[in-house]
Amino acid sequence: MANQLIDTFGRVHNNLRISVTDRCNLRCTYCMPEEVVFMDRAELLTFEEITRFVRLAVPLGIDKVRLTGGEPLMRRDMPRLVRMLRDIEGIRDIGLTTNGILLAEQAQPLYDAGLRRINISLDTLDPDRFRQVARRDGLDRVLEGIFAARKAGFEPVKINAVSIRGVTDIDVVPLGRFAREHGLEMRFIEYMPIGAEKWERAKVYFAHEIMEQLEQALAPLVPVENYDPRAPAMEFQYTDGGGRVGIIASVSRPFCMSCNRVRLTADGKLRNCLFAIDEVDVKHLLRGNAPDDEIAEVMRRNVRDKWEGHEINTARFIKPLRTMHAIGG
Ligand code: SAM
Repeated sequence: MANQLIDTFGRVHNNLRISVTDRCNLRCTYCMPEEVVFMDRAELLTFEEITRFVRLAVPLGIDKVRLTGGEPLMRRDMPRLVRMLRDIEGIRDIGLTTNGILLAEQAQPLYDAGLRRINISLDTLDPDRFRQVARRDGLDRVLEGIFAARKAGFEPVKINAVSIRGVTDIDVVPLGRFAREHGLEMRFIEYMPIGAEKWERAKVYFAHEIMEQLEQALAPLVPVENYDPRAPAMEFQYTDGGGRVGIIASVSRPFCMSCNRVRLTADGKLRNCLFAIDEVDVKHLLRGNAPDDEIAEVMRRNVRDKWEGHEINTARFIKPLRTMHAIGG
């Protein structure tokens, strides 16, 4: 236990989210600015550097990783990274979160490389609203990506939708229905203050409202049998057998006290919270050939210093300087 990533609140960390790029082929209003200066490619951790970091994190208790961005599939040769991570003894779970635009071509190579968990972000099935939210076209490409993922063998395929009052709240039922029809698992995410646009609490479409809409239009929902109260997503199933729904109530029901995550940004900064103000540079350690012990100690210290929670619901909340695309969602 002494070696583990434990903070002063006793939270044990086994989950590492790795951003592989801050670049994106969409410009979702709630996530990033329209005009953006991306990181210099030389600043990005190489696959070898990422792999060394993960190898050092495993003895500290990390056994689950998720690849994200920016848009992770904009980074060349992601199946190679999946293979490199899969080969690390002790890593039992590799996931990827993507907007799906480039997935139609990459789903099969990713599956063949050993990826088994995939989350695809899709906020609306309406092409006009897709363009309004993402500031780019692409709905058809995302749908192709979703079906390619199913065909490649991913099971379940999870679809992430951010619900914003007056913008995408109208999409809850169509998305819920679409997921039921195609055997996909919908996950609705409350809108968080981590993008470039001004966030207002009034725009958060709350978990209970999402559930009410789904239950009225589709079928009653009950907690799944193996319901894990500590998981970020509250998991429900339709009583008519129509599948599962996850709701990530980061604002109305923060799950900070059971948080088990740390994040590595594409430019090699370690963050102990999505909303962290401070981050620790590990790239200079990896590039400077620092000894393994030193890097492990930096990880332990970073987690030990983790604060109690994100404070979104208090006057003390401070928005991080980086927006979501540059942290890794
Ligand atoms: N580009 C990939 C994608 O779209 O899935 C991975 C990165 S994206 C930042 C990861 C997730 O963060 C997406 O599901 C996105 O909808 C979510 N996200 C971004 N900004 C958010 C916000 N302000 N509130 C809630 N979720 C947000």
